[in-house]
Amino acid sequence: MSKKRIFSGMRPTGKLHLGHLVGALHNWTNLQKEYKCIFGIVDWHALMGEYENSHVIKENILDMAIDWLSCGIDPDESTIFVQSDVPEHLELYMFFSCLTPLGWLERNPTYKEQLREIKTRDLHTYGFLGYPVLQAADILLYKAQAVPIGEDQLPHIELTREISRRFNHIYKAKVFEDCKAILTKTPRLLGLDGRKMSKSYNNAINLSDSKEVIEKKVMTMITDSSRIKLTDPGHPDICNVFSYYSVFAPEKKDEVCAWCTKAEKGCTDCKRGLSSEILKVLKPIQEKRSELVKDKEKVLDILKQGAIEARAIAKETMAEINDKVFKK
Ligand code: SF4
Repeated sequence: MSKKRIFSGMRPTGKLHLGHLVGALHNWTNLQKEYKCIFGIVDWHALMGEYENSHVIKENILDMAIDWLSCGIDPDESTIFVQSDVPEHLELYMFFSCLTPLGWLERNPTYKEQLREIKTRDLHTYGFLGYPVLQAADILLYKAQAVPIGEDQLPHIELTREISRRFNHIYKAKVFEDCKAILTKTPRLLGLDGRKMSKSYNNAINLSDSKEVIEKKVMTMITDSSRIKLTDPGHPDICNVFSYYSVFAPEKKDEVCAWCTKAEKGCTDCKRGLSSEILKVLKPIQEKRSELVKDKEKVLDILKQGAIEARAIAKETMAEINDKVFKK
């Protein structure tokens, strides 16, 4: 039996960090065994938010591909490509834009939240409102049966289902099946300053950071503020450093908890220990990374081959769509 197909993507807007590793990439590498995975570097999505700063997008594409491959995304198992190398994404987006009611997009909670929170860019644009329509096109172009997501993205999948059902209904066709969400439990990792991890807050450890940079960044992490002197017992449950131990060295949790609550070690020592645990996790990734950085042609070939594979599926879907819409 052939494997079920899944689609997932990432916007090339900056360097990948530990949040991407534990929030998506670990999960993607596991999914490759069970599913035929199509992973897109979604540069048009990046453009929707970064249209005034678009030069960074191209720069980040190769870097993102190198990070994916270093983390274990396997081009022999999965299709890895750049969205703008497959123009059919925009073609299907156009078809969906015609039939998606404005109200569905205006009431999208993520859209409303981002308009409220992001003040550094003007996102009151036609393109940004249509972001979920392009997402639906990304998924449905490959007739993906499932999409790995976190719970907060459930409304987007629901919208994709609504768009596909509306298409099927209007054109009296069964082109699309409902795609399912693969809900993934991922550890919640906050930024170094205790806020949401984000490139705009500059509070993340990047997968490509050097040992020195990682050690320096970890030293800036916010800890339990009631632990002022070495003799003050700490509260690991409210300390961000401890939550990082839980993710990167869970076997050390009891030990850290004991030395913190009994004030046996200071926060500086505790952070030193955390740096070395993070470095252990990143070691194989960074080794692979430095090999790939020296062989960028190989990475570009993987993306080129990925686009050929993706386009073959995309063309088939678009032939079917054009047939249903214009020969109704
Ligand atoms: S000892 Fe470690 S866990 Fe305890 S407050 Fe300090 S940094 Fe946090």
